[in-house]
Amino acid sequence: MPVSSDVTLNGEAEPRWPDVCVLCGIEHPDGRFEFRASRVGFDQLLTLSWSVGARPKVQVPACGVCTRALRLDRRLRGVTTWIVGLAVGGAVLWLVDTLGWLPSQPRALRRWAAAGFMLLGLVPFLVWEMLRPPKVDVTAKGKNVSYEFADRSYAEMFRELNDENVRSTSY
Ligand SMILES: [Zn+2]
Repeated sequence: MPVSSDVTLNGEAEPRWPDVCVLCGIEHPDGRFEFRASRVGFDQLLTLSWSVGARPKVQVPACGVCTRALRLDRRLRGVTTWIVGLAVGGAVLWLVDTLGWLPSQPRALRRWAAAGFMLLGLVPFLVWEMLRPPKVDVTAKGKNVSYEFADRSYAEMFRELNDENVRSTSY
């Protein structure tokens, strides 16, 4: 994602996290924000080049209140992606169908076109998501794992702690 600060590590390495809350920055937070890494990054979805593999479990240091906020944000983002995607995709599909272009096409093409329109429906949301990245997200990419942060300073801290396992960074 262009706007988040990404640090890609060797997937076999156990990541070392800064001992500060990923959301509010308080030191020695008492909790952990747990989630499973995604397998498909938004950039990969757009280029249709995702890979299969394990989805490592992530445990990011965070304080109790922030853990709940992060969990809610993650859930809401997941749900909205699908709702917006299906709604916009469905609307485009309905429009194309109403205009009479779709029914006149061969069956195989119709199916691909429908899938394409659904995916197209996600694009506005993906752009919005890129401009407002979540505080922390993790994507398994083949043998590497990409850690994406909204804060560049946190990403730099993370990078320093995991120096020997860093494959690439993009700020
Ligand atoms: Zn916090």
